[in-house]
Amino acid sequence: MRRKLVVGNWKMHGNRAANAQLLAGLKEAGPWNADVAVCVPFLYIAETALALTGASIAYGSQDVSAHEQGAYTGEVSSAMLADVGCRYAIVGHSERRAYHAESDQLVADKAKAALAHGVTPIVCVGETRAEREAGQTEAVVKRQLAAVIHTLGHCTGEMVVAYEPVWAIGTGLTATPEQAQAVHAVLRAQLHAATEHSDRVQILYGGSMNAANAASLLAQPDIDGGLIGGASLKAPDFLQIIAAAS
Ligand code: PEP
Repeated sequence: MRRKLVVGNWKMHGNRAANAQLLAGLKEAGPWNADVAVCVPFLYIAETALALTGASIAYGSQDVSAHEQGAYTGEVSSAMLADVGCRYAIVGHSERRAYHAESDQLVADKAKAALAHGVTPIVCVGETRAEREAGQTEAVVKRQLAAVIHTLGHCTGEMVVAYEPVWAIGTGLTATPEQAQAVHAVLRAQLHAATEHSDRVQILYGGSMNAANAASLLAQPDIDGGLIGGASLKAPDFLQIIAAAS
């Protein structure tokens, strides 16, 4: 039985005072019978690490460079993330694919770079509304995941996957448990065909998950947790989702 994993994606929100309050609220509530992490803006990783000392909450970034080191102004390497204790790096979030033109291959290279330094990539895949309406959901997520599987090779079993339908992110529209489970089953089968370690890959659902809908989504056999945007910014909301997973 896979342990559930609940990850907060703060996106470009927060400030030092608000972050301290949020993290204190989370810290006093743990530990849980689930893995919990927050993925925060690069700038706040060090303070997050300090605030979470002694807590059973991991932390990570929302992106990582595909490069090892060098003249890549503005980028942050996986070695740097490992250096400050990051457990996870989100890669291929749909906002980065859309606003930063990240290709499937770049996302795969980022996942590989993260793993090279012991940082677990949380690889996001998901279809747009137009793609769903055109009946392309399965083809899109399989194409996105295939690039990562091809690039990671025997390390495929080391990643976390997040299915995030683009039309559900930040919109208040959530995939139904059945819609989400159907895609998760496709992803699970693809992983199964690629690695003997597929059973240990946690596949998260993301897209307007909240306290009200978390339990029914998390009850699905192939939904191993959640990647949470908006609802991770308020401790009581995030804690209710964690409770549903524990
Ligand atoms: C996300 O940013 O990964 C996300 C799922 O956002 P939200 O929960 O706000 O839809």
